[in-house]
Amino acid sequence: MASAANPFSVSVSSKPNNSADFFLRVQTPPDSVSLRYSFASPSSIELNSSRGGNLVLSASRGVRSGRIRASSAQVMDQSVAKTDARAPTVVEVDLGNRSYPIYIGSGLLDQPHLLQRHVHGKRVLVVTNNTVAPLYLDKVVEALTRGNPNVSVESVILPDGEKYKQMDTLMKIFDKAIESRLDRRSTFVALGGGVIGDMCGFAAASFLRGVNFIQIPTTVMAQVDSSVGGKTGINHRLGKNLIGAFYQPQCVLIDTDTLNTLPDRELASGLAEVIKYGLIRDAEFFEWQEKNMQALLARDPSALAYAIRRSCENKAEVVSLDEKESGLRATLNLGHTFGHAIETGFGYGQWLHGEAVAAGMVMAVDMSYRLGWIDDSIVKRVDNILQRAKLPTTPPDTMTVEMFKSVMAVDKKVADGLLRLILLKGPLGNCVFTGDYDRNILDETLHAFCKS
Ligand code: NAD
Repeated sequence: MASAANPFSVSVSSKPNNSADFFLRVQTPPDSVSLRYSFASPSSIELNSSRGGNLVLSASRGVRSGRIRASSAQVMDQSVAKTDARAPTVVEVDLGNRSYPIYIGSGLLDQPHLLQRHVHGKRVLVVTNNTVAPLYLDKVVEALTRGNPNVSVESVILPDGEKYKQMDTLMKIFDKAIESRLDRRSTFVALGGGVIGDMCGFAAASFLRGVNFIQIPTTVMAQVDSSVGGKTGINHRLGKNLIGAFYQPQCVLIDTDTLNTLPDRELASGLAEVIKYGLIRDAEFFEWQEKNMQALLARDPSALAYAIRRSCENKAEVVSLDEKESGLRATLNLGHTFGHAIETGFGYGQWLHGEAVAAGMVMAVDMSYRLGWIDDSIVKRVDNILQRAKLPTTPPDTMTVEMFKSVMAVDKKVADGLLRLILLKGPLGNCVFTGDYDRNILDETLHAFCKS
């Protein structure tokens, strides 16, 4: 990781199933440079820089565990700046030989090489829905096939909505894959928001026991959270996301231009997860959001790009440390236990995921305060920022204490009958994942937010 003492981090990777390529990535916050060397065509070396800088590297000898350390100096090089003004920022999810890049930037769907280098085999299945398909399907097919005549692309267009994130819809993906005779060398591409990403990922994890998978997220929610980290799955009528698998993509391609067509309510919903990162682990980011909420809601491109990058960096770091959620990763679920109860109890799709999470975060913060773990200035700041983001700060009127309790009892964070929660503790940016709290306080919070 980059630090003040070591401001550059360099990683080298070659994927066993794509051994023709060798990647060198240099993270120099706020910019990044990536270099790709292809053994298949040794004359081709690509250097991408998110700024016009040229890095001079002196690497120590020997590559250990796919990583080298490097000292560096920056030299301005106008030729690099001119070659590709739209080069993406790259955030790496570091999972050993399953590491993958998150490309973030404007106009990335017009740069076919970014996608094509991650397609294995000759068959691709794009999974999308009937809202996103008319907007971006042609563009994605073009990006997959331009200059790449050997690849054939199928698509499956699912009905749109959280209520379709279930088994019958999942079967439509398998129907298409089997009818199209896709084999193990196929690649599934998720094009859409978190619902499509979660379902396509789960289909990729289970079709023929696992095929390659690429995420092209098109909502803020998916760009800052759901497309990164490999959690895939579907809902059950008794609980959200109860059926699924951890399955990492080959890459995540975030073309921020896709947000231009996103409705305001969906944009705000995604901001709930952005706010979450600030609260659980990044106080500086939270303070930045307090200053820039208006710019985010007005879709200022640089504010959105910064929020997406910083969110992806936070998520990538947590996932790299705890891929299968043995502890740290659970902290990404601040407010989600209450929020999932709202989504399940109130009916899937009635409230957007981020709206339910926003009200859930207020409840978790209220409980943290009642436990004496945070001071009231944090309670006020959370309420204030969520209201400014136009997100709800109380659950729907129809939610009762019993509805919360019955859904929370089947939450994935229940262990040995004990419900563990993510609660804030200490100064802003600190949280705990714990089952060690006074049950009466949970009751107090539920009664404070429900009429019955
Ligand atoms: P969504 O996928 O339902 O998308 C929201 C709406 O926006 C849909 O109507 C969709 O068709 C539309 N849409 C998508 N992109 C668009 C675009 N560019 N322009 C116009 N319309 C567009 O909802 P979401 O908020 O993206 O995701 C919520 C889902 O993600 C939930 O099911 C949640 O459980 C899941 N999730 C998963 C993770 C994870 O780690 N896997 C994390 C967070 C959330």
